[in-house]
Amino acid sequence: MHLGEIIEQEVAVRTLQRAVASDSIAHAYLFFGDHGVGKKTTALGFAHQILCEAKAGCGSCPQCLKLSRDNHPGLRALDPQDGTIRIEQIRSVHQQVQYAQEHYLIWIINEAHRMTPQAANSFLKLLEEPPGSVVFILITDHVEQILPTIRSRCQAISFTRLSDAAVAKALKARAAGDGGEDAGKKIELVTKMAQGSIGRAMDLWESPLLDRRKFVLEQLINLPGMSLYEVLGLSHRWEEERQLVALDLTIMLHWYRDLWCLQAGLEHQVLNLDYLHELSVSCKRYHRSSLEQISKAIIGLHGQLDRNVRIRFMMGNLLLQIRKGVLA
Ligand SMILES: [Zn+2]
Repeated sequence: MHLGEIIEQEVAVRTLQRAVASDSIAHAYLFFGDHGVGKKTTALGFAHQILCEAKAGCGSCPQCLKLSRDNHPGLRALDPQDGTIRIEQIRSVHQQVQYAQEHYLIWIINEAHRMTPQAANSFLKLLEEPPGSVVFILITDHVEQILPTIRSRCQAISFTRLSDAAVAKALKARAAGDGGEDAGKKIELVTKMAQGSIGRAMDLWESPLLDRRKFVLEQLINLPGMSLYEVLGLSHRWEEERQLVALDLTIMLHWYRDLWCLQAGLEHQVLNLDYLHELSVSCKRYHRSSLEQISKAIIGLHGQLDRNVRIRFMMGNLLLQIRKGVLA
């Protein structure tokens, strides 16, 4: 594998290609940008090119063969354990890099923002006195959570969102593998919802998106005509299944965003185009500021899903808030 295989991300790829070609690899890189836009794949492509005998990720030299079998001693990865990167893990990196001198040793640190403060400080020491020919590639979706002292010692490589065309192409390749019917409509919907992230697109593709959307939109369309009592009862139709609730909240968010777009005369930005009639009816029932508040409440609940919240209780509150936003 090599950098030429990376989808879009021209600036990042060009910068890294140049570093390999001129043999001026930095000691540490920080790959940052949205989830699912190719940071990890790029890190692998970069590592393969550095380690390959032809500096090309040729796929056939002894180094590349070891890489393809996943047992090249020069490429290691560190992942969070139970949601955090602990100091013990960084200590182990300290020990393992001591002996790296002649050959490149590349460490890919996934979700680098999940280092505990102790781990981050310990890692900082590695960056202050980088050992031998070690290359660290830190990967994160949340660059703002990385210690500024770590950030300043890394060469930052920014990853942008991908084009809809690139996301749709990846989905088409995926759908061809699945061989399901009705793929065109699903590809179109998922592409719009993925907002330039192939990672998000693949997650949505595997989710029961179309079924959930039908269910959720049906409830949202009926909600303005329900009594507060009925709205509360509705919350019982949600199970304590966080992944599914996260999907439903995403669908809800797009619905109220569509209503907002219609009110703002931005019909071309509407996502749920097949519900245009229902959207036009619903859009008259909310004030613009309520739509903004509803969107904020949905995003808020989405952010709390990681914590131990009671889904039905929170969903009940959210639905009540939406119902109260309906114009009399
Ligand atoms: Zn090779």
